[in-house]
Amino acid sequence: MAKDQLISVCGAGGFIGGALVADLRSQGYTRIRAVDQKPFDQWYQRFDDVENLVLDLQEKAACYTAAKDVHTLYNLAADMGGMGFIENNKALCMLSVLINTHLCMAARDCGVERFFYASSACVYNGDKQKTFDVPALKEADAYPALPEDGYGWEKLFSERMCRHFREDFGLKARVARYHNVYGPFGTWDGGREKAPAAVCRKVALAKLSGKLEIDIWGTGDQTRSFMYITDCVQGTQMLTNSDFIEPINIGSAEMVSINQLVDIVEEIAGVKLQRSYKLDAPKGVNGRSSDNTLIKEVFNWEPNVRLRDGMEKTYAWIYDEIVKGNKSL
Ligand code: NAD
Repeated sequence: MAKDQLISVCGAGGFIGGALVADLRSQGYTRIRAVDQKPFDQWYQRFDDVENLVLDLQEKAACYTAAKDVHTLYNLAADMGGMGFIENNKALCMLSVLINTHLCMAARDCGVERFFYASSACVYNGDKQKTFDVPALKEADAYPALPEDGYGWEKLFSERMCRHFREDFGLKARVARYHNVYGPFGTWDGGREKAPAAVCRKVALAKLSGKLEIDIWGTGDQTRSFMYITDCVQGTQMLTNSDFIEPINIGSAEMVSINQLVDIVEEIAGVKLQRSYKLDAPKGVNGRSSDNTLIKEVFNWEPNVRLRDGMEKTYAWIYDEIVKGNKSL
């Protein structure tokens, strides 16, 4: 793809969108449109040399503005958050269907060459995630459908919207199923944060305050895999620019329990905390990680940043944000 083709990043004020814009700039792409509904001062990363637009992409007309003259469009816009948010805001999560539906229509009508949709491991059948030591999820495990209520159903529906726009209208849509993404410049407090950022914040606050305690949602035995943001951004572009048309896992295969995640952050911070377990807090499925057989077969690649390394960078960034007195959103 030529470096002067117009690329539209929808959800660019968010965590993954902001990181994608930063990466595209660093590769020398010269025409980037960054779109988000948040006011500019709330974007995690914003660059003056790209076209920045504040638009509500649930509105159809806004999606046509986002897609006009565009070669490649990345849809990373969604009303989302960690378990604490999605378990309590199912209708809001489902309303993101408007974003992808209107973006697909706009991409079709504006002649967009490539379209990327960010789906999620939350599409996978809940029955396959009941134990802590579940086998990693492979792409076929999305059916028969029993996704996460609200958020997961919206993702699964939108995946299918992409598929049918490809089949019926020739839209070159690519779909990734991300498994928990973490890293600097993302949400770390306020209720939408995910486990890695929440653990970093809690450990940093304990260290700074000298109150050496931490609360953990559930028993801490829940297992997950966590993908560092640079792997996410790399895999996203690789998929978008490829000829592979089916939804595919982009996630780490390094599965840990939440207790092990806390161990890692304690070690990074050089503290040991008294743990208390909040058994009635939202905790999601018992076990989930990414089976990377397909992505290795197709791309000879899989996310490879070690959790320990990625968490070190994430902890350092969140610690600094707290010390500077910044708030997340
Ligand atoms: P994020 O919340 O940081 O970013 C999403 C952005 O979309 C936000 O800045 C938000 O303001 C914007 N947005 C929401 N509604 C909008 C609207 N109506 N119009 C314009 N902008 C709107 O989330 P993220 O972590 O960057 O996630 C990006 C995408 O990846 C989302 O689709 C998400 O569901 C998906 N995903 C993320 C993860 C993860 O672990 N972060 C995992 C699986 C899937």
